[in-house]
Amino acid sequence: MSNKILVYIETLEGLPAEHSLELLGKAGDLAKKAGLDVGAILVGYEVKSIAQELIYRGASEVHVVDDPRLGSYNLLPYTSAVVDVIKKTEPEIVLFSATVIGRELAPRVAARLKTGITADCTDVDIGDWVDPGTGRKYEKILYQIRPTFGGEIMAAIVTPQRRPQMATVRPGLFPIPPRDESRTGKVVEWSVNIPESEQSLVEVIEVKREKRKVDLKSARVIVSGGRGCGAKGFELLRELASVLNGEIGASRAAVDAGWIPYDHQIGLTGQTVKPDVYIAVGISGAVQHVVGMKDSKIVIAINKDPEAPIFRIADYGIVGDLFVVVPKLTERLKKKS
Ligand SMILES: Cc1cc2nc3c(=O)[nH]c(=O)nc-3n(C[C@H](O)[C@H](O)[C@H](O)COP(=O)(O)OP(=O)(O)OC[C@H]3O[C@@H](n4cnc5c(N)ncnc54)[C@H](O)[C@@H]3O)c2cc1C
Repeated sequence: MSNKILVYIETLEGLPAEHSLELLGKAGDLAKKAGLDVGAILVGYEVKSIAQELIYRGASEVHVVDDPRLGSYNLLPYTSAVVDVIKKTEPEIVLFSATVIGRELAPRVAARLKTGITADCTDVDIGDWVDPGTGRKYEKILYQIRPTFGGEIMAAIVTPQRRPQMATVRPGLFPIPPRDESRTGKVVEWSVNIPESEQSLVEVIEVKREKRKVDLKSARVIVSGGRGCGAKGFELLRELASVLNGEIGASRAAVDAGWIPYDHQIGLTGQTVKPDVYIAVGISGAVQHVVGMKDSKIVIAINKDPEAPIFRIADYGIVGDLFVVVPKLTERLKKKS
């Protein structure tokens, strides 16, 4: 095995996707900790020009497959291309973003390489690991951390014997590394074997990008509502959010009740957010919700139950009826602005 952590880079309109850069930054931290090199896998057509940007963002090597057969994302040819690059470069670790593409591509790559993979990690770390059964020590082990048992516990999953160690990691968890134009690195171009049958199996006719209706990931303020709000409560939250220039989030209970679309759901099966201010209104603070907002800078909870678990992670708490507290808060903020 070579001493590498590779990150699969998704591209968007000729640029590396932001979530891929986030992951590249995190991989850089792991590489530093374990004395590894960090690199990128870049697959597509006319993508070579992106390689330099990846070096500015921290990659010390970029493995490029620039091939007209890979013009649009297509699962099987992309799987073959990525597998081929991994076989040629023999990395210790390969990371994908847990996006629509990463979630379908990474497990196929892992299956062909006969290695393990953990899907949808909320964190990754690296270090030694001792097998409790045999006492054998393994080095440079990727800790693939994710909630399990419906979010009740955080599990650290390891792949001690197979290589590469692989994981998909949720977008929106890590900062984008700063751009440093003084950085240098090498770009390696590969030609890969893509069986004819894989190219013709699926024909991509058109690619349409649907923009998310709500942008919770880059919101600085999120006012989030739960079961305690009811449909009426969400009207109050919208007013509060508008005064604060914020977005509306929700717990799954509120989404399930039909008060707000799924796009707004935060948590284990929703989005992961980290705004400057997160106001949780009528939300109890179930682990499955908290896992999606715990990295917010300031958490303010409004709940009529002083024992609600959300108060355990809140920086500020208001115990009271949201139908009294929220209008007062909105009024006060309106006067200030
Ligand atoms: C596999 C799995 C995945 C899940 N994924 C998610 C997820 O992604 N996101 C998510 O949120 N949940 C998720 N859940 C559900 C989660 O376990 C909780 O059921 C959910 O978060 C509860 O939502 P809630 O806090 O709005 O409702 P509740 O737990 O019912 O809490 C409502 C709160 O409102 C307060 N309240 C009521 N009336 C008022 C009032 N007038 N004024 C002030 N406070 C009031 C109550 O005191 C209470 O604390 C998942 C569960 C499972 C098993």
